[in-house]
Amino acid sequence: MTSSPRVPWRVHAVLPRSVANGPGTRYVIWSQGCALGCSGCFNPETHAQSDGGGASVRTAGDVAADVLADAAHLDGVTLTGGEPLEQPAAIAAFCAEVKARGGLGVIVLTGFTRREIETDPARAAAVADADLVVAGRYNERLRVARGLRGSSNKEYWMRTDRYGPDDLAAVPELEITITAGTVTVTGMAAPGRSL
Ligand code: SF4
Repeated sequence: MTSSPRVPWRVHAVLPRSVANGPGTRYVIWSQGCALGCSGCFNPETHAQSDGGGASVRTAGDVAADVLADAAHLDGVTLTGGEPLEQPAAIAAFCAEVKARGGLGVIVLTGFTRREIETDPARAAAVADADLVVAGRYNERLRVARGLRGSSNKEYWMRTDRYGPDDLAAVPELEITITAGTVTVTGMAAPGRSL
């Protein structure tokens, strides 16, 4: 599948520096839109397929350019949501760009299962450049909120050897960032985090 950096991408929010969304310092991008409907989801504001509610429509290339401008200070990127793989062309184009030009590690947090990804050509292409995919629906009865998993049923799909179990176990569960008067609370144990 050929991917274009001009492909549109509905983005709910970004966090340019985070240490609680994967190993090392990472650029985090929340996609806008999710139709998977996990019971107990903490992120209903990310479900709408429109760009309302503060989300914006970017292009994969624009977002990649922002990330690459700071690549020297980053270990990688983490894509979460909403559901990143409901916009597979954007994810494929973005990941190809940051891998090829920045050598950054790529982690994708998704509600789709590994089988649902592997059997869908567009989703499979979207994670082709990912080092790690954390896959599967959030299950509120199995909530763990650590190691990049909202619930214990979610599968670690290690696509390269860049990240291992020890790296994931060491990720802080919570992070509070204060920038220009704005307080951001993130990490798997943050209020409002299930993916
Ligand atoms: S937990 Fe994730 S995959 Fe499930 S409904 Fe919420 S945003 Fe969608």
